[in-house]
Amino acid sequence: MEGLSRREFALGSLAVIASGALLARGKLSAGATGDDASSGEQQENGGGADEVNAALVDGKETVRVAFLPITHALPVFELASQWKGGGAEGIQVQLVQYGSWPELMDALDSGKVDAASVLVELAMRAAEQGIDVKALALGHRDGNVIVASQGVGAVSDLAGKTIAIPARQSSHYLLVLQALANAGIAETAVTFTELAPTEMPSALASGRIDAYCVAEPFGAKGVKSAGGHVLADSEDLWSDSVCCALVANGQFLSSRPEVAARFVRGYKDAGNDLDSRQGRPLEVAKEFLSQDDDVLQTSLQWISYRDLTIDEKTYDELVSRMRAAGLTQNPPAFGDFVASVGDAA
Ligand SMILES: [Zn+2]
Repeated sequence: MEGLSRREFALGSLAVIASGALLARGKLSAGATGDDASSGEQQENGGGADEVNAALVDGKETVRVAFLPITHALPVFELASQWKGGGAEGIQVQLVQYGSWPELMDALDSGKVDAASVLVELAMRAAEQGIDVKALALGHRDGNVIVASQGVGAVSDLAGKTIAIPARQSSHYLLVLQALANAGIAETAVTFTELAPTEMPSALASGRIDAYCVAEPFGAKGVKSAGGHVLADSEDLWSDSVCCALVANGQFLSSRPEVAARFVRGYKDAGNDLDSRQGRPLEVAKEFLSQDDDVLQTSLQWISYRDLTIDEKTYDELVSRMRAAGLTQNPPAFGDFVASVGDAA
């Protein structure tokens, strides 16, 4: 694993996952039949604008959504399943898989995809830098843990230890900061390191790191296969914590407002369906994620997809935590960043 670069969410032997939904990996797909003319390479920004902006795939209204293969993106997968072939709304979801957050954000910023499930802090930073992206809904609620090696029995043992996070711009970093604060440990008393999520379980097992916090199911994987244990749960650190968001390109919202509204409503309904139908999250996770069942089962106990609307109070708390951690100086205002697209009249 040493060859994997930091920050890179490397997925190793990732194959395009078979599913009922249209799915492409880091590229535009011409549809269910696939068109590999681009050989899987992403087009350069600014190239192929006509194709990029195509709203129809196989003659059907299509919303292209970028994702990383994590349980935090489950509502997107559920919606793609529900709208397979167009569904009741006559809109289909084309899932486009990326290997890292930076790649995914580039695709969203440049309009290669219409929307993405992404760490909300990364989207806020893009907005802060003047990029036209807006948050439509949460990706999930709660659903993160801090995993530690057996040598770390409690948060108070973290002083002097090395803790991995995927990036500073993440709720994972904010959750670890909260845990340290609760235990009276200064941030400077620990060493933070940024690692690819897929690397974290093995880094824990080998002793390179002592603890980590990252998108799921990589925490559960550390517990199930790397000798780790749960040191703290996001619910105990930050009530109703947020992490990922469904974020859209502004061009998509302004050029296809009716489709965007139906997309957001469908997405929130899909989240509520996941939460109310016992066993459904595991079914969807198994279909879209290449992970062992017991890892997924463990992970899914920690997460909720109910009521994914972003309210101002939740956003204000996020901003306040980001400010305190030095992650933002000039955060976008709630009304500018959170689009009310699809809200009930
Ligand atoms: Zn998340």
